[in-house]
Amino acid sequence: MLSKEKDCIVVIGCGRLGSTIAELLSEERKNIIVIDKNKDNFINLPNNFSGFTIEGDATEIDTLLKVEISKAKILLVITDDDNTNLMIAQMGKKIYKIPQVIARVYDAKRESIYKNLGIDIISPTRLFTEKFKKITV
Ligand code: AMP
Repeated sequence: MLSKEKDCIVVIGCGRLGSTIAELLSEERKNIIVIDKNKDNFINLPNNFSGFTIEGDATEIDTLLKVEISKAKILLVITDDDNTNLMIAQMGKKIYKIPQVIARVYDAKRESIYKNLGIDIISPTRLFTEKFKKITV
């Protein structure tokens, strides 16, 4: 694996969300690898980012093999597309047996698909709705 340490966290997607999470993990000195299909998006990372960056389409097995994905402790799949996220998260869980796979899910109706596969989810749609309920009477 690119990271020499064990227990690496792999983040797929380095846009608004992925770069924010990567910055947080970097501040916590976690071992982190960030993959994005467009290298221009790595500009979102802070100058002192301590992890590795890899340009590549994470739906392609070659990209996942490049980072030795099967050695990851956590796989965070946070691209901006539900189908892409489901596909990568499934590969992470079923093929590469990563202990914890977490995916971003926009379509709250699809949550059960992930749950049945043993994939943890974070849904911006649901989080917004719950927060909306809390701050309104
Ligand atoms: P955002 O919605 O701003 O958090 O950005 C989502 C990020 O996911 C963008 O930087 C995209 O380039 C990235 N992304 C989308 N599809 C893929 C993919 N198949 N492999 C790697 N990165 C991707």
